[in-house]
Amino acid sequence: MRVLLDETELNEGVLRLASEIDQYYGNQRHLTVIAVMTGSLVLFADLIRRLSMPQRVGVVQASSYRGGTESGELRVDSQMMIDVSGRDVLLVDDIFDTGKTLDRLQKMMLQSGAATVKTAVLLHKNREHSVALRPDFVAFEIPDEFVVGYGLDYLDMYRNLPYLAVLEPAEIEATASESQP
Ligand code: 5GP
Ligand code: MG
Ligand code: MG
Repeated sequence: MRVLLDETELNEGVLRLASEIDQYYGNQRHLTVIAVMTGSLVLFADLIRRLSMPQRVGVVQASSYRGGTESGELRVDSQMMIDVSGRDVLLVDDIFDTGKTLDRLQKMMLQSGAATVKTAVLLHKNREHSVALRPDFVAFEIPDEFVVGYGLDYLDMYRNLPYLAVLEPAEIEATASESQP
């Protein structure tokens, strides 16, 4: 595993992200902050505690990686969603890759009557995106490689790593063969 961002760098990135979001909204405006599960789990916990405004917090589940490292069909489960009508919504995801996830979720929130919908991500992959949407708040630009740690998984492993690392092809193979119970 090759470490791309260590704990200190991640921490600085989250602080930067929080201060940009604070500046944009101000500390009086009520915000509805939605975690895109499961990848944003760790970022989300760190980020919301560094934001100054009053917040309502919710989650939505989105997944497109069906047991691999290539993005597939996007599935959204909004069973745990809170009401967003008339609210200023901030969607928080781990990474902006093709952009399909946040593009779809932003449209969903607007259809549900959200007043405004902004997006924040820890990572932005340096590649061509398949949607017009660009995230409003980004902590880091990274190369187009498959990364794990700090919430990001391969086969639901590695989310607990306190750093962000590139998973090498041999490790991808080994993880896949070890992932059987
Ligand atoms: P998008 O819809 O922008 O293509 O993909 C976003 C989702 O794909 C992210 O929420 C994340 O779960 C997953 N994803 C994209 N790139 C990576 C990556 O390099 N590593 C991991 N672990 N997940 C990724
Ligand atoms: Mg995700
Ligand atoms: Mg994943």
